[in-house]
Amino acid sequence: MKTAFPTLVGNKALREHLAADILGHSLSHAYIIEGVRGSGKHTLARQIAAALSCEKKEDAHLPLPCGLCPSCKKILSGNSPDLIFVQKDPEKAQLGVDIIRSVREDVRLLPNDTDFKVYVIEDAHNMNFQAQNAFLLTLESPPPYVVFLLLCEDSGALLETVRSRAPRLKMQLLTPEETEKYICSVDPRAQELRQSSPREFADVLTVASGSVGQAIELLDDKKRAPISARRALAKEFVSALENRSARAGAQIISRLPQKREELLLCLFQIRLALRDLIVAKKSDGGELCFYSLREEAEDLSFALSTSDLLSVYDAVEEAISMTGANGNLRLILFSLATKCRLI
Ligand SMILES: [Zn+2]
Repeated sequence: MKTAFPTLVGNKALREHLAADILGHSLSHAYIIEGVRGSGKHTLARQIAAALSCEKKEDAHLPLPCGLCPSCKKILSGNSPDLIFVQKDPEKAQLGVDIIRSVREDVRLLPNDTDFKVYVIEDAHNMNFQAQNAFLLTLESPPPYVVFLLLCEDSGALLETVRSRAPRLKMQLLTPEETEKYICSVDPRAQELRQSSPREFADVLTVASGSVGQAIELLDDKKRAPISARRALAKEFVSALENRSARAGAQIISRLPQKREELLLCLFQIRLALRDLIVAKKSDGGELCFYSLREEAEDLSFALSTSDLLSVYDAVEEAISMTGANGNLRLILFSLATKCRLI
């Protein structure tokens, strides 16, 4: 079997299945590609487009797509008019029916210089009801040279009628080890950070939760700084629960952000940390999302009772919902501190 989609990391079964469909000429004319941000949806879409028109498809010694033939080069470098990215108008919240109508017109025109025309519908979950309905007929029976790839984070937002016309390809998240191996092989900043600050590097892998794109984004110091600051505050909050004192409690509460949006992001991190401690209490080895070191979470969870953890978790949940609902921030923080017995 040829190496399938060499630039996509992980997702072995999906890659092999798709390659077999392309080589056996049994590819569906539409797919939903579902996965979180940074999970490789765009990479896969480009690789499918290149593979379809690859001139060395039949060469068993080369990967699919080969990446070397003129057609592959043109598509993979973003210079092919036959790979079309369809996006919503940036001024609008949703992808409207006008854009889908122009796609419907465009599919009638033959490919320019490759065998297929591939339409990538970005954030397909943003298509409004009318747009999805207007799309149905084209989606069901497009011209033979057309393939639609609908990228989305959650296919549940698409109408059942759309979902039933396009098989779903679910992007898999990578393990921390796979993410580490990959980012270190493609980005020198990963190796540098792993050497200079192993702890921070472990945090990058934890925060990225298996999304290579997000991990690479977090290698940028500027992007990582605000997240690291929120995580540090969340850790302080949880530590204050371990040795409750009025002074430490008042201190951490006063250090939480005063701006609504920033406070919300910080509370999300606190909730994630508490969730980890609840998971760490159980002995079934459930995966952690906040703590990079399992022992750290286990030590903290050991110091707090389950009922304490659950009531603090509820108090944080309530603070999140009140902050989101425009409640008075001072009152929210006071109520949070009291319910968590921090003051
Ligand atoms: Zn090729």
